[in-house]
Amino acid sequence: MSVTHNYWPLVLENLKEKVSSSTFKAFFSRVEFVSTSNQGRKIVLAVPSAFNRNFIEKKYKQDFKNSIQAYYPSVIHVEYEIHQDQEALPIPSPSQQLLDNIEEQEKTAPINFQEVTQPTLLSSYLPKKTLNNLNPKYTFENFVVTRNNELAVNVAHSVIRQPGTLYNPVFLYGKVGLGKTHLLQAIGQKMLEERPSINIKYIPAETFANQYILAVQKRETTQFREYYRTVDLLLIDDIQFISGKEATQEAFFYTFNELHQQNKQIIITSDRPPKQQAAIEERLISRFEWGMVVDIHPPSLEDRIAIIKDKALRFGLPLDDKQILQIASKVETNVREMEGVLNRVKAIYNLSGRTEIGQQELDKTLSGLTSAAVNLNLNVKYQNPESIILAVSRVMGVPKAEIMGKSRLQDVAMARQIAMWFMKYELNLSFPAIGKVLGGKDHSTILHGCQKIETCRINQIKVQQQIELVKQILNQ
Ligand code: ADP
Ligand code: MG
Repeated sequence: MSVTHNYWPLVLENLKEKVSSSTFKAFFSRVEFVSTSNQGRKIVLAVPSAFNRNFIEKKYKQDFKNSIQAYYPSVIHVEYEIHQDQEALPIPSPSQQLLDNIEEQEKTAPINFQEVTQPTLLSSYLPKKTLNNLNPKYTFENFVVTRNNELAVNVAHSVIRQPGTLYNPVFLYGKVGLGKTHLLQAIGQKMLEERPSINIKYIPAETFANQYILAVQKRETTQFREYYRTVDLLLIDDIQFISGKEATQEAFFYTFNELHQQNKQIIITSDRPPKQQAAIEERLISRFEWGMVVDIHPPSLEDRIAIIKDKALRFGLPLDDKQILQIASKVETNVREMEGVLNRVKAIYNLSGRTEIGQQELDKTLSGLTSAAVNLNLNVKYQNPESIILAVSRVMGVPKAEIMGKSRLQDVAMARQIAMWFMKYELNLSFPAIGKVLGGKDHSTILHGCQKIETCRINQIKVQQQIELVKQILNQ
């Protein structure tokens, strides 16, 4: 399996945080991705000179490797090729003065990196899965099929049986918290099971847009296009995020056409139907309507009962029928909200040490919920960036001020990135908003942090555990 180099700019971004800017400029900015092989275990890079390679190997071997592994988690061996570009201007070797400067900077600002544990290589398909961005928690097995979503589920199964030709694209829309992301990812997991060799890519449209910005900055739009051109199943979540972003729409239009022509399946989700997309080019909207447009409705009372029953069983909550009805009547809008209520009930139940759910406590939990408080999010506590920072601080033992600060120490950076990830995926904050909360970090730092945790939480058991602990505190 070969891994394409869409992630290379992110590796360099990651490294930028570890080395001084002059070091970066002199020794890393011209390092280019060549290939990966041996199931992603070996990466070949191009450097402009032997001197450049030796410098990296001598001084930054481990830091560089860590940055590479953050995005190419199965890489064990790094190999260099010397590419002297004849047409380009001769690359000056860094002057002695520059080298002295670098040495000096590093003396005055020592960067202390602890060894990062190598990502555990669980099996050879993992790197591929990692790059898919599929979250194993979203499967068909735990997706409750009810009246409100059965059409969408049927379309999903048809597409899995006959990808690329029957309905292409599939455009799935519905209000927030109704299971679009869950269903989209379940399709990806199922396809992966049935056709392990195909190239699947789940990507939130916002991430696609951000990646494209990086590609433009790095002058790698050709590589960017090439990367998406080789996808067999493209799962684009929340397409409304490309509204108003013309360059991204252009890139998406290209990708769409390329894939569609090759009969590669495309599935798109959104919070609204194609016609109601604001600030998205007409030619894209008409393409969204080419295949099958299907929606997920808000669940009826009966649907909600079915979902709560299923979830209560999975949560290990002994709710009786009356209590299930009580919750289903109270929580009307979306499934995420139901999970929020069940989480609260579970927390109280676990504390009580009893074998049944106390009616009084349930009444109290439900009466305390205003629709606005549970709308959108699992838990009131989750709605608060402050509580996330405090929970991360407690779990990781890193003071809040450091999380908000600029320290690049490994543990501090990790804590900061986990906090970013929670704000992104649990609070749905935008990258700039997260940057602001964390004391004025820029957009690309947040993007990179969130992507890093997305990878680590699949590969690194330690990170998984840390995230779980933070969740537990937030759910208390
Ligand atoms: P959307 O993408 O439409 O906003 P999600 O897919 O994120 O919604 O769903 C919100 C939460 O509700 C997720 O945790 C998901 O697992 C759960 N969920 C939604 N629909 C269902 C369903 N039919 N069965 C089980 N869980 C569901
Ligand atoms: Mg979603």
